[in-house]
Amino acid sequence: TGLFLTLEARVYELNTTGPIRFVLITEGDEKKLNELFSITIYRIVNELLINIRKHSMAAEAAVQVLLTENNVQIMTEDDGIGFKSDSVMSGIGLKNIKGRVELLNGTIHIDSSKNGTQTIIHIPLT
Ligand code: ATP
Ligand code: MG
Repeated sequence: TGLFLTLEARVYELNTTGPIRFVLITEGDEKKLNELFSITIYRIVNELLINIRKHSMAAEAAVQVLLTENNVQIMTEDDGIGFKSDSVMSGIGLKNIKGRVELLNGTIHIDSSKNGTQTIIHIPLT
């Protein structure tokens, strides 16, 4: 099964086992992703979703995976409590994400405030 179906199953699982309502949007042609990109994207999204469940205290969260010809954009957004950038050093989840993104020459941008957190990742497809 493909990446998008796997993500749908993961989001369904989160929605049926916890209080946060997750919404998933996927777009593009997942068939052109090779194994490395599929697995990397899944692991990144999964860690972002786990972080939202564990830390955000959000009511709602959105996750978007958009594939274009040359690029993948991963976006997550929650309406939770947010965090300060110095707490980034406290775990290995975000460090792992940064490592994976850097390895693929991508970029990550985290915007967090007391109204929630938005994370946007771009990875060029090669
Ligand atoms: P690990 O991922 O290693 O199991 P962790 O989740 O605490 O532990 P990171 O994933 O690196 O570590 O996240 C670092 C910290 O950033 C978290 O401990 C938490 O304080 C904060 N954080 C991350 N995502 C969110 C979020 N969506 N809302 C609020 N706080 C967050
Ligand atoms: Mg984590």
